[in-house]
Amino acid sequence: APIKVKVFHKRPIDFTKLDINFLPAVILVGRPNVGKSALFNRLIRRREALVYNTPDDHVTRDIREGIAKLGDLRFKVLDSAGLETEATSGSILQRTATMTANVLARTQFAVFLIDARAGLHPLDLEVGKWLRKNAPEIKPVVVLNKAELLFDGTESFSEAADEARILGFGDPIAISAETGFGMTALHEALRPSIEDYVLQVLNSDCEDKGPQQCGESSLEEVDDSKLPLQLAIVGRPNVGKSTLLNALLQEERVLVGPEAGLTRDSVRAQFEFQGRTIYLVDTAGWLHRTKDEKRPSSLSIMQSKKNLMRAHVIALVLDAEQMTHAEVVIARRAVEEGRGLVVVVNKMDLLKGKRAGSLYEKVMESVPMEIQTVIPQVTGIPVIFTSAIEGKGRIPVMRQVIETYEKWCSRLSTARLNRWLRKVMSRHSWRGEGSQPKIKYVTQVKARPPTFVAFTSGKKHQLSEAEIRFLTRSLKEDFGLDGIPIRIMERCVP
Ligand code: GDP
Ligand code: GDP
Repeated sequence: APIKVKVFHKRPIDFTKLDINFLPAVILVGRPNVGKSALFNRLIRRREALVYNTPDDHVTRDIREGIAKLGDLRFKVLDSAGLETEATSGSILQRTATMTANVLARTQFAVFLIDARAGLHPLDLEVGKWLRKNAPEIKPVVVLNKAELLFDGTESFSEAADEARILGFGDPIAISAETGFGMTALHEALRPSIEDYVLQVLNSDCEDKGPQQCGESSLEEVDDSKLPLQLAIVGRPNVGKSTLLNALLQEERVLVGPEAGLTRDSVRAQFEFQGRTIYLVDTAGWLHRTKDEKRPSSLSIMQSKKNLMRAHVIALVLDAEQMTHAEVVIARRAVEEGRGLVVVVNKMDLLKGKRAGSLYEKVMESVPMEIQTVIPQVTGIPVIFTSAIEGKGRIPVMRQVIETYEKWCSRLSTARLNRWLRKVMSRHSWRGEGSQPKIKYVTQVKARPPTFVAFTSGKKHQLSEAEIRFLTRSLKEDFGLDGIPIRIMERCVP
C-alpha cells in the first residue's frame, strides 16, 4: 500500500548554498601522468587546496583535497597523485595499495583518467582492478584526458573510447584538463548521482533534526512494498567483503541504472537475487580503514552514520580467525540506528575440523553469545558462517538478508496486536496486583523498522524501562521478529 514519506529537500539542489559537510567526495584516480593534478587544479581553480598527510606504512603521503566547482555543481575533490609520486618502487598495484582504504573511505565517487592519445595502458587496467577490489561499489566516470591532442577528429576518439570501454566502467567522455574542453560533459556525467547523494544526506539529516530545523517538508507518496532492499556490506579490510560482493555481482543478474523514483538513494550496484532486486549501497565508507588508524576522523564518523542510515540491512563481515570486540561494538550502532543486522563469520574454512570441541565448533558457539553480550538490545541477531572463497557464502547470506529485511518491513494490524496485548497482560503480573499499568492499546505506527506505540491512560508515563523491555521481548517472540530492532514507545492519553 502507498505510504507517505517526508521529503524536505527536492531537486534541483542549489549547490552554492550548501554546507560543505553535505558535499560528497570525488577522487581522481589514474596512472601517473594522465593529468590528475591538472584536472584537480582546474576544478578547484584558485581556491585553497587542503593538503593533509596520511601516515601509512610509516611513510607520510600527501593527499590534496579541495572544493570543486563545475558549473553549478560543488563537491569535494581528492587528488591521489601525491600518493603515487612519493612511492618509490613496486608495481602500481603496490603503490596504489598504499593509497589505503582510509582515503577511499572518505570517497563516494571517482573520476578515472586515461590518456586519450596514449590509449589504454596496462597500468590503466591495474588501476581499474585496484579500484574494483577496494571500492567495488564505486562506479567511476571514465574520462579520456588530453583529448584536444586528438586533432584528427572523431575517428581516433572512437578508437580510444573503444579501448576505454575494456575497463568495464561504461562509456568514457573526452576532456582536456588543460584547455577546459569537455567540462560540460563531465558535469552532466557527475551531476545526477551527486545530486542523489546530497538529497539523501540532507533528508536523512532532517529526519535526525526534525522539521523545525529544516523548514517545510512535503509528503510524497511512495509504494512502500516496492522500495527494494538496500544492503550495505561492511567490515574491516581483508575479511572477505570483496570476495563475497564479487560473487554476488558475477553470479546474479546485474541490473543497470536505478529505478525511477529511487534515484535519491545513492545506489552503487544492483542485482537480482531470486527474483528480488537488491541495491548495494555505500559499502566502503564504514569500517573500511586501516588497522593503525585508531581514531577515525570526525568526517568519517559523520559519513559512517549516513551510510548506516541509507541501508535497510547491514551485513557485517567478520574474519573467523581474527574477530575483535571492537567490530561488534560498531555493529551495535547499526542496530541503534534501527537497521537490520546480519553477522557473517567468513573464512570458516581456515578452522579445520567440524567435530565436537574443535575450533570450528567453538566459534559457532561463541560468536552468537559475544554478539548478544555486546548488543543486548536485540536478541537473536542472525549469524551466518561462511567461506566466501569457496563460493559458499552468497546464497545463505542473501537468504538471511532477505529474511531479516522481510521481518524489518513487517506490519501488524492493531486488532492482532490487541489480542496479543490481552494475552501478555494476563500472562504477566505487572508490579503486583492492582497496580497494573493501564495499556489501553498498542498500535504499529511505522515499519522499517517496526515501531509501536503503547497508549496508556494518565498524565505521566507509566511504563518502566523493564516493562518496555518485557513488551519488546514478548512482541518479538510472539510475532517472530527476533533479531531485528523493533521499538516501542509509550504515549499517555489523559
Ligand atoms: P598526474 O600525474 O596524473 O597528476 O598528471 P599531471 O596533472 O601532473 O599531468 C601530467 C602531464 O600531462 C603534465 O605535463 C600536464 O601538463 C599534461 N597534461 C595534463 N592534462 C593535459 C591535457 O588536457 N592536455 C595536454 N596536452 N596535456 C595535459
Ligand atoms: P575485503 O578487504 O574485506 O574486501 O577482503 P577480500 O575479499 O579482498 O579478501 C581478503 C583476502 O581474504 C583475500 O586474499 C581473499 O582471497 C581471502 N578470503 C576471502 N574470503 C575467504 C574465505 O572464505 N576463506 C579464506 N581462507 N580466505 C578468504
